[in-house]
Amino acid sequence: MSKRILVWFRNDLRLHDNEMLVEAIAKSDEILPVFCFDPRQFELTCYQTIKTGAIRTRFLLETVQDLRHSFQQFGGDILILKGKPEELLPDLVNKYEISEVYHHREVASEETEVSMGVEDALWKLKVNLKHFIGHTLYNKEDLPFPVKDIPDVFAQFKKKTERDAIVKPCILTPQSINFVQLAEWGELPLLTDLVLNESLADLPISSEFKGGESEALKHLHHFLDDGEELALSNTTLKKNVIVSKLSAWLGLGCLSPREVYWKMREAEANFGLKPYFNQIVLGLLWRDYYRFMFKKYRNTFFKSEGFSTQTSNSDLADSDLLQAWKNGNTGQPLVDSIMHDLNASGYISNSCRQLAATYLIYELQINWIMGAAYFEEKLIDYAPASNWGNWANIAGVGNDTRLTNSFDFEKQLKIFDPKGTYLQALRA
Ligand SMILES: Cc1cc2nc3c(=O)[nH]c(=O)nc-3n(C[C@H](O)[C@H](O)[C@H](O)COP(=O)(O)OP(=O)(O)OC[C@H]3O[C@@H](n4cnc5c(N)ncnc54)[C@H](O)[C@@H]3O)c2cc1C
Repeated sequence: MSKRILVWFRNDLRLHDNEMLVEAIAKSDEILPVFCFDPRQFELTCYQTIKTGAIRTRFLLETVQDLRHSFQQFGGDILILKGKPEELLPDLVNKYEISEVYHHREVASEETEVSMGVEDALWKLKVNLKHFIGHTLYNKEDLPFPVKDIPDVFAQFKKKTERDAIVKPCILTPQSINFVQLAEWGELPLLTDLVLNESLADLPISSEFKGGESEALKHLHHFLDDGEELALSNTTLKKNVIVSKLSAWLGLGCLSPREVYWKMREAEANFGLKPYFNQIVLGLLWRDYYRFMFKKYRNTFFKSEGFSTQTSNSDLADSDLLQAWKNGNTGQPLVDSIMHDLNASGYISNSCRQLAATYLIYELQINWIMGAAYFEEKLIDYAPASNWGNWANIAGVGNDTRLTNSFDFEKQLKIFDPKGTYLQALRA
């Protein structure tokens, strides 16, 4: 009897640097890759927002389609299903005589509850759910401290991690794969099957962000080429204008953070231009930091009072002001322009996110939770730890006391647009 491993894909939709996939191939005779479109991911939240808006849903569909295409090139496919993993996966285990299920561990509560549900259901069938770690630059086992002792202050986390931990090399992409043979691999859902609470009329037909591992690697190479060009032209770099726009692909795991890291290090060795490449590595460290903080503190980041000892007194109700912020109708031209960009593309830079968030919290005096929930709906790169962690810090209820209370809208406006050029252009 051949050994079969079910590989449950979630936010790890790639073939490169994928330890889970490589180990499943090595330890089995046949693998069964599976992706579940879980209806809960597309529902309304208690804050009258949608968990996954149309822009990110389309990006997800493109990503799964790209992974399907990659597996087809290896002579197989990925089984695409609609439903709850904890109900679907045990049935597949029975039907295809699967001996083990592999997946990547998540950190936020809703995601971990789903894997716990899967683990319990598999346990009853005496089948093991094996957990892998593949979302971060540094594996938690390689950090110089246990999770409970990871410093809350980002600067300390950065200093000690860079000094005492190593970034592992990338795992090689598989060269051949044996698949469980299925007659039907399931249709990719239509956008209209998943987007039930939003009109698709305003969704732009094309986007600069197309989902999938192949697009992710293309985009990474463009960024590196741009770096090489800059290095050759001896251009002086302004630190805050360097943005890779890699976040959406990192979010769904189409791109491994280690792949990005090693490519940045290689490019830096070849072309110099340290500030350019280092800025991206710094971003990856922030990303790790928030994920580890989520692991350490779990649901605290989802609470209005966060780490503060005082209870929050602003309410979580919808209001005309909140709607104006969401729709870009506040009358503050820069904030309105940022919100229009967010609504149209799902992407805004880090400084724009900070400005929009600071304005909502400190100028409009609206509870930060309502802003974070709206970003969750709209961002093409939404990641629970990065979104809620950044919002909590801006709201002054985060766990890094050095970051809290340093957000002043007027000050930020001056840093973002010191000569008012951007504002003048908007008013013209
Ligand atoms: C209010 C708010 C909400 C945010 N929500 C998200 C989110 O849901 N998903 C998300 O990926 N990022 C989030 N960020 C972080 C950051 O704004 C984006 O990662 C970044 O703007 C993405 O653009 P980029 O790929 O060009 O980043 P780059 O500057 O090129 O950085 C490279 C990568 O590092 C990571 N990164 C950079 N800055 C941060 C940061 N401050 N926190 C965490 N990761 C970082 C991203 O993965 C990014 O792709 C949020 C920031 C704020 C202020």
